[in-house]
Amino acid sequence: MTQVAALGLFGGTFDPIHAAHLRMAQAFRTELQLDAVRLIPAGQPYHRQHGAHASPEQRLAMVQLAIAGLPGLYADAREVHRNKPAYTIDTLQEIRAEVGPDVALWWLIGGDSLASLHTWRRWEDLFALANIAVALRPGFDQTRLHPAVRTQWQQRQVTDFSNASPSGTMRPLALPPLDVSATEIRQRLRTGANVEHLLSTPVLGYIRQHRLYC
Ligand code: ATP
Repeated sequence: MTQVAALGLFGGTFDPIHAAHLRMAQAFRTELQLDAVRLIPAGQPYHRQHGAHASPEQRLAMVQLAIAGLPGLYADAREVHRNKPAYTIDTLQEIRAEVGPDVALWWLIGGDSLASLHTWRRWEDLFALANIAVALRPGFDQTRLHPAVRTQWQQRQVTDFSNASPSGTMRPLALPPLDVSATEIRQRLRTGANVEHLLSTPVLGYIRQHRLYC
């Protein structure tokens, strides 16, 4: 890969990747003037209350299908192929070592992930490795953040974005509201409701072909 000055990283379960993820990735790239955005599907199996889920390889395949032909977006398979729990801190350490100290790294999260940031492994060390962009879902309320996260959120926001640092800052990403989640999509697929407006056509084709989420 050629050297980049600003690289966006977007981790998620992507179970499945949907319209809001794609819009987030594109708005992230445009708004922060990133040379590239890597989508990083989480690898480890995880437990949820109910419903069927796709395997890590299937989630990666859907990400690859969804971004084919979209400029500047790439799939990064490292967490899917890692045979131990994949923590964001480890992924960021690896990528920082690969790109060197001068490239601005931006890790993208949603507002709900910001609300649980204090539960992430070594979360305060993330800021030494990357900047964090937060895509706010409708209804985001910063007064409900954990106090330690709220302090970081208030102190690390910069108004002068032209001074892009390799790591350490936080930035809200303004997105037009798109109130969709993978949970809702899985439910709609189970009940046979229409999902065509929420998924890209190749992803929906893959879901049907592999009989996912039924
Ligand atoms: P699930 O419903 O299974 O929890 P999800 O739709 O939230 O899934 P994830 O793969 O967990 O999808 O999302 C990856 C990241 O994208 C998370 O940080 C999440 O907060 C964010 N995100 C997903 N959908 C939206 C949305 N509509 N608006 C803003 N952020 C979103």
